[in-house]
Amino acid sequence: MCHKDTGWVRAYRSHGIYGDYLCDSPWALVSSAINVMKQIQPEPDFILWTGDSVPHVPTKELSLTKVFMLIGNVTQELLRVFPDTPIYPSLGNHDALPQDQVPVGPASYYDEILGYSGWHQMLDDSSVKTFKQGGFYSTATKSGLQVIALNTILWYTRDKQIDNKTDPSGQFEWLTTQLKQARDEGRKVLLSGHISPGVFAQAKGISWYYPIFNVRFLNLLQNYSDVITSTIFGHEHTDGFRVVYNKQGKPIIPMFLAPAVTPWKSSLPTVGPNNPSVRLYHYNKTSGEILDYFQYYLNMTAANLARKAHWLLEYQPTANYGISDVSAKSLDQLLKSFETPSSENFRKYYVYNSVSYDNLTKCDGFCKQYHICAMLYVDYEDYKNCLDERMLKSGASPYDDGGHRWPHHRHWHRIHKRHHKVPAYMFIVICVLAVLVFLLFIIIALLCWGRRYPSRPMGYFSQPRYILLSSEQPNFPEYANTKYT
Ligand SMILES: [Zn+2]
Repeated sequence: MCHKDTGWVRAYRSHGIYGDYLCDSPWALVSSAINVMKQIQPEPDFILWTGDSVPHVPTKELSLTKVFMLIGNVTQELLRVFPDTPIYPSLGNHDALPQDQVPVGPASYYDEILGYSGWHQMLDDSSVKTFKQGGFYSTATKSGLQVIALNTILWYTRDKQIDNKTDPSGQFEWLTTQLKQARDEGRKVLLSGHISPGVFAQAKGISWYYPIFNVRFLNLLQNYSDVITSTIFGHEHTDGFRVVYNKQGKPIIPMFLAPAVTPWKSSLPTVGPNNPSVRLYHYNKTSGEILDYFQYYLNMTAANLARKAHWLLEYQPTANYGISDVSAKSLDQLLKSFETPSSENFRKYYVYNSVSYDNLTKCDGFCKQYHICAMLYVDYEDYKNCLDERMLKSGASPYDDGGHRWPHHRHWHRIHKRHHKVPAYMFIVICVLAVLVFLLFIIIALLCWGRRYPSRPMGYFSQPRYILLSSEQPNFPEYANTKYT
């Protein structure tokens, strides 16, 4: 499927082998991404698969069978390429039908993902048991790090199955128990899921979780920061991160938002496309702390031209930002460096944000503040206060575009305007047609006029407009005394 401003459309032109910046991934791209992972690191400790494998096909054209089959295709390709690597999948909002409507469990939907989509081949028995309860589970890596895969769709505002439940499928209660046990038994936890808490800076600061769930999840992160070493999410397609602070303002947990494989331009009007990407994290096996990562990407334009996928290292935070690691403390320092005017680090961040799709647009002024506030504050109120404060200082309104607020959108239009704007020659054709119609109208009018009043065109305005066939007096004063028959 492809996205245009008018909505979702079928692939509307012959896109390249590896896809199109307006469209979902063709299989060649999916397979290329999975296979390049093998070349980058043939034996990773484990793979996190953060969901959304189903393309943006309208609900009426999908069926649950197709949804399970599509997810199953990715499952089988991952298992084929990485037969000996643990794979920890999470559900995405597009992995349900209708999309976003993940049921409050237990429900047959979860059994069918395990069965038809093959997830039972990736999960151990105890994970299968909790997955059936609501699509979440906890497992342990070989080195003893505990990985908790969340079903974040249960907290997503678009999931209308929640129906005012304060803890859908009991996921919060279960998570709290897991974290307590991990603390008691001295384990470290890596949290993974599809949708992150906090707000999406690139899309007018929209948020994903129901406010009560956002607060509750943030409280859990703050209360168990001695246990939770990192959090990893997807969903936004862009490359981002957030820092979780404790109540005293100390940076405690890093939150990584890895960019997507799909280049598909979001249906959110202010978000542009991205280059396809995969990411390799380096972590300390004992502490579970993520130390660094390697962000790989495919320049899709070049790949389509060459008809060959040449994946490259885009950046590595420690090397490209000059930070010692990607701990919450180091990311906090990085955020401080973003604050300086014309910050080179922020410029780099903004290029990486679209996976080097957009190298031209400057994000300063409001655009920059939206990003920084979103990275600093996971709490909705704090985020809003951050924006208000910064805008107040600058004497401007955050609700004003300010020229640079939605650069992706503008840039995207600039380079893709042939697909979205009426070509200039169409205006000329329309104008010529309008003139011709007008001239035709004048000619016809003159002909009619000539037939009706052949002898007195100049006296037209003093003459009656109608020929009366009845004996009634016309309603014109100058003819009041005229006798008609
Ligand atoms: Zn998603």
